Amino acid sequence: MTDAPTATTETRRAALDAIAAEVRACTRCRLATERTNAVPGEGHPDTEVVLIGEGPGANEDRLGRPFVGRAGDLLVRLLAMLGWRREEVFITNVVKCRPPDNRDPEPDEIDACLPYLRRQLEVLDPALIVTLGRHSLGRFVPGARIGQAHGTMAPVDPSMGAPAALAYALYHPAAALRSPDVERQTVADVAGIPAALVESRRRRAERASTTSADTAPAGAPDQAPPVAG
Ligand code: URA
Ligand code: SF4
Repeated sequence: MTDAPTATTETRRAALDAIAAEVRACTRCRLATERTNAVPGEGHPDTEVVLIGEGPGANEDRLGRPFVGRAGDLLVRLLAMLGWRREEVFITNVVKCRPPDNRDPEPDEIDACLPYLRRQLEVLDPALIVTLGRHSLGRFVPGARIGQAHGTMAPVDPSMGAPAALAYALYHPAAALRSPDVERQTVADVAGIPAALVESRRRRAERASTTSADTAPAGAPDQAPPVAG
């Protein structure tokens, strides 16, 4: 237990809904002009795990939901390896509107959109951020290279709104769809996610016990689901 007030599920849900409503109405960058639907992201308000891709593709733009095309199907299969469902985690992107022709988002578009992601992460306070692809990785672990970083964890850049999270890097599921080698590697990397989550919980508990006069929190279970009971 800590002395800090804990946000309830409903408080978190309302805060996430408010951010999503702002995103759907946003015109802060040029990506607003070509979108069908903005894609704020979705998931469980109490999750410990947030997965973050680059930006919506055509299917996502059409439906207003993240990772609903082929890359999303693969992501769901990867989560299932851990016994997790997409409803139990939170899934979003660095930019919330589809870049035309699936081009990379421009730096000024990313800068315009980042406050939304930062606010989502402040609400969720995740233990683990799983970056999907090099663009997402670059935001959370500046200077990291996907070829070396995939399957490893690192502290999250403190400017990203999740100061107590570790980032765990995966290749983008779309890259795995293009290459059997990348897919095999990604399957192996996903198997490392539970240990990264346990390590992040351990660090957070340590932090809580050194910053609170209270008794230390009970030890985290080794393989708990990503939604705290
Ligand atoms: N690729 C992404 O990066 N994000 C999505 O939501 C879908 C595909
Ligand atoms: Fe707004 Fe982000 Fe969409 Fe740009 S990409 S219009 S900043 S929500």
